Amino acid sequence: MKKNIAVIRGDGIGPEIVNEAIKVLDAVAKKYGHTFEYTDADMGGCAIDKYGDPLPQHELDKCLNADSVLLGAVGGPKWDSVPGNMRPEKGLLRIRAGMGVYSNNRPAKIWPQLADASPLKPEIVEKGIDFIIVRELIGGIYFGEHRTFEDGERVSEDVMRYSESEIERIGRIGFETARKRRKKLCSVEKSNVLDTSRLWKSVIHRLAEEYPDVELSDMLVDNCAMQIVKNPAQFDVIVTENMFGDILSDEASMITGSIGMIPSSSLGAGSNGLYEPIHGSAPDIAGTDAANPIGTILSAAMMLRFSFDMPREADDIEEAVGKVLSGGFRTGDIMQSGMKKVKCSEMGSLIAQAVSEI
Ligand code: NAD
Repeated sequence: MKKNIAVIRGDGIGPEIVNEAIKVLDAVAKKYGHTFEYTDADMGGCAIDKYGDPLPQHELDKCLNADSVLLGAVGGPKWDSVPGNMRPEKGLLRIRAGMGVYSNNRPAKIWPQLADASPLKPEIVEKGIDFIIVRELIGGIYFGEHRTFEDGERVSEDVMRYSESEIERIGRIGFETARKRRKKLCSVEKSNVLDTSRLWKSVIHRLAEEYPDVELSDMLVDNCAMQIVKNPAQFDVIVTENMFGDILSDEASMITGSIGMIPSSSLGAGSNGLYEPIHGSAPDIAGTDAANPIGTILSAAMMLRFSFDMPREADDIEEAVGKVLSGGFRTGDIMQSGMKKVKCSEMGSLIAQAVSEI
């Protein structure tokens, strides 16, 4: 099969981790006789430097014309002082909206080889951590009107808005995802305070009638934040709106040990998806070949599974990551005593090699 992948290397560690994911994709292509072509697109700080814009239309077009998009990370202190609408992160919001990817899917799963790295008590980790957060990605407060004005003093407001159809399409992804797993869906909102949450809850309950095989529960977001650290084993699939999902998914990533291990996929109505690790550009270790590329490599595996319908190839990558971890290899962020510390580039090569040997 031939696929064109738009590659956004971005800033900080972005180029380093994306290189390693490409190494692994090339190993998959060689093994299975696929052709992956890569089209570089600029986004984030590097695009601001080059074009004065975090995502010019011509770079977005490269992504829209590709079969899928692999993204490293964007941003860094160099661009902290640029005006709000020109910040590197605006590129992220723009690409999500431009591609119409309304559903972000982040697994929170503990690798048995890294169970010690979880900050939770062993008796909690032993019960298992294996859930997915399905987050609405292009609506809510991040996309509402933002303004700051004078009213005797400075006042700011950010508008949170959701329509029934926006809730219904993400709700469906939640139910469908649960259906393919342990058939438990937890809908998270703040319906004791917010109108948007009351609408959310009513739409999700209406949808539940179409999914009698899925067990639906409701949880307030503040309780959910507590339950993720107290009893994460209770969760299978969590579905929630944009800002709650942003915060909860970062919390969920922490309990699994390292932010460097976690992939994500963002999908809309078509098969062209956006695949990226959940972490940022890690400016503190950029350029030192010390980053963990596994989150990006597992994002590439998700791309093969969800956008290219290549489940065997995706399984190979996930198995290869497990093999390399079981072989005792670790990047600095997941280093444990008795293990062998490797650089970002070595980790990528080891996983690529393991793919070809499976
Ligand atoms: P960060 O995720 O970049 O880093 C947090 C900590 O985790 C740092 O100590 C970093 O070294 C470490 N870390 C992150 N990824 C790692 C990896 N793969 N391997 C090893 N260690 C890793 O978050 P931050 O420091 O808050 O943000 C840095 C920049 O990234 C900011 O400009 C922020 O806006 C941006 N950011 C971008 C994205 C994105 O591109 N999707 C997401 C979040 C933050």
